[in-house]
Amino acid sequence: MAKEHILVIEDEQDIQELLRYNLSSEGYTVTCVSSGEEGLQKARAISPDLILLDRMLPNMEGLDVCRELKKDTSTEDIPVIMLTAKGEEADIISGLEMGADDYIPKPFSPKVVIARVRAVLRREKTPEAPADVLRRGDLVINPGKHEVTINNDQVALTITEFKILHLLARKPGWVFNRDQIVDSVHGENYAVTDRSVDVQITGLRKKLGVSSALIETVRGVGYRFKEL
Ligand code: CA
Repeated sequence: MAKEHILVIEDEQDIQELLRYNLSSEGYTVTCVSSGEEGLQKARAISPDLILLDRMLPNMEGLDVCRELKKDTSTEDIPVIMLTAKGEEADIISGLEMGADDYIPKPFSPKVVIARVRAVLRREKTPEAPADVLRRGDLVINPGKHEVTINNDQVALTITEFKILHLLARKPGWVFNRDQIVDSVHGENYAVTDRSVDVQITGLRKKLGVSSALIETVRGVGYRFKEL
């Protein structure tokens, strides 16, 4: 099997080297560039399997690079993980809105980076058909039957609650912001606003009972399904 190729767009030399060293040790082919402009060029030239993109770059910043990548049909499908300064929630949100697949706050440990890279590449390889039955621990979601069970006991959910749970559970560990959640249930004659997402989540957790901890709040960003 060909080694997966990772493009690192990062202007700080020591971080670049840290990533190069650790990703290479894991068997990935690594290409590093120091600016957004070079990053876009390389992305088009080598079609990497994944891009690690620093948020803070000279001249052209990470968010703009991400936007350009997602606008170009030759690069739009390449998953992007943003490297963001710690605690800058606004940055995380705008990164996700710009189409980034995940984010890693700085400073980070190489282990975390490797784990996230693996997770994102794995998701890319195994796209789940929406009608597939999902099993997450004791929880089973059957989209065909529109049925949720915990330890074989049926859980009565509203259509909106079901959709939100299904959305989150399809990608454990993946953070969805409120807008993305609203979008996913949009068009079903349900007036879902930002705030009412929180209300839906509260209702959903209540009905999930002992399994309510499966839905995690990511402060200032949104929600995710726990990685089991
Ligand atoms: Ca930087």
